[in-house]
Amino acid sequence: MDNRTEPLAAGIWRVEVGYATNAYVLANDGTGDGAGLTVVDPGPAAGAPRLVRSIRLLGLDPRRIGDVVLTHWHAHAGGGAARFVRSNANSRIFAGRADLPAVRGEVTRPQRAARREDASWSARHLGRFLAPGEAVPSAGPLDDGQRLDVAAGSVVVAAPGHTPGSIALHLPDARVLLAGDAVWTLGGVWRGPAALRSCRSGEAATLRRIAALDVAVLAPAHGPPLTRRVRERVAALGA
Ligand SMILES: [Zn+2]
Repeated sequence: MDNRTEPLAAGIWRVEVGYATNAYVLANDGTGDGAGLTVVDPGPAAGAPRLVRSIRLLGLDPRRIGDVVLTHWHAHAGGGAARFVRSNANSRIFAGRADLPAVRGEVTRPQRAARREDASWSARHLGRFLAPGEAVPSAGPLDDGQRLDVAAGSVVVAAPGHTPGSIALHLPDARVLLAGDAVWTLGGVWRGPAALRSCRSGEAATLRRIAALDVAVLAPAHGPPLTRRVRERVAALGA
């Protein structure tokens, strides 16, 4: 197996689907595809063939993908989501409630709507180019504390910062956090480019909250998994 696809814990795999962009595949039964698979952040539409290929290489059947969870509306995370709905009648898409209007295509330039203190000038104007992926009108909401029946149980953690409706997924038994874009590990541990963040007033509280979770592996959307001094390093970002 190459380093683009790796297991993080039982029934949890990281799959690189684009340049330094990760999708995560979760076995609903914690081991294989017997009870279906859940994909977190399938990545950009162009990465879908790579994701499907990687799932096959893991010995799993991509047709077993049911739910797709988006940690936020950006196309680099969920641009391929619409394709799952079209290609698989059993696929359902979910995203944090505050990001749903963008995922559903009800607002086309969500970044522009951000408050001045939440998005830099460049972020507001980059919004013109930073469009959400193809709209998924049927996408459903996820709320803080909601439990999902994947990989032996996981909990939705509201993580506003990168976008207002950003979420992370905590897998307490595996001590894994799928952090979305709340923390980047690409070129250091940081909050990611300011021009991509549209809810900066939420960041500090989100990082404090993440730092308080019991996490051995922090798995971001961009960059390799963080496995050393996770709590300390996330806490330092929120300070
Ligand atoms: Zn993003």
